[in-house]
Amino acid sequence: MTPLFDTHCHLDHGRLCDDLDDVLARAHEAGVWRMATIGCARELASVESALNIARAHADWIVTTIGVHPHDAAAVAAEPGLFEAVERIAREPEVVAIGEMGLDYYYDHSPRQEQQEVFRRQIALARQVRKPIVVHTRDAAEDTLRILREERAAEVGGIIHCFSETPAFAAAALDLGFVSSFSGIVTFKKAEAIQAAAKAQPADALLVETDAPYLAPIPKRGRRNEPSFVAHTADFVAALRGDDPDELRWTTTLNACRVFRLSPPESAPPKRPNSP
Ligand SMILES: [Zn+2]
Ligand SMILES: [Zn+2]
Repeated sequence: MTPLFDTHCHLDHGRLCDDLDDVLARAHEAGVWRMATIGCARELASVESALNIARAHADWIVTTIGVHPHDAAAVAAEPGLFEAVERIAREPEVVAIGEMGLDYYYDHSPRQEQQEVFRRQIALARQVRKPIVVHTRDAAEDTLRILREERAAEVGGIIHCFSETPAFAAAALDLGFVSSFSGIVTFKKAEAIQAAAKAQPADALLVETDAPYLAPIPKRGRRNEPSFVAHTADFVAALRGDDPDELRWTTTLNACRVFRLSPPESAPPKRPNSP
């Protein structure tokens, strides 16, 4: 089976961790070869939960650490939280910093604090020389401006759960940021996101679940899990008119390049018309 890479899931989330062994078994059956579980530093008490999952499954799970824009206010509220992020960021299992960014749709933290914590984390990523996982919602201009001002291009990274326009994807790519498409690309009203997935150069395209959120069609409305990344990959392949196996292979190689991991040892899929 052609290897898949779920570049963004939350395996330490309360909705997944109770039956994690079954979730992982189904991911394996679906062809998932690697996963990046995203560590969100909400509070000191659970700041290592994603790292611990990656350590327990080091043969196929990597992790990241960052402060989600929803939780930006927690940095000022809990002394030591950002220092813990800085410490964990240096661990070898941690392949990227984030998710970080701006979310002006929910505004769970004041925008000023979101921006400050975003800038601080870009500086951290540059310091530890690891790529950045960006979360952006209804904040396209400020996101691009801050990435530019803080020289994020030095490390590059991923626009995760892509929910913007083709123009945004192109501007992000100029800064060294590839786009990762989640289940929302499969939704009927996602025309702009679908146009972006179609226009995106093949070497700058990733897929993810963002599990437990946003399950793709035909699983929409259910709890999402990494095995469902296969539906998103197949949908994106059909959208682009690509061979599904080739799209799996390309997106997996792209993820390895961004996270600086060795590529799979298996052979690439044969093109349908090749001898
Ligand atoms: Zn996110
Ligand atoms: Zn996420």
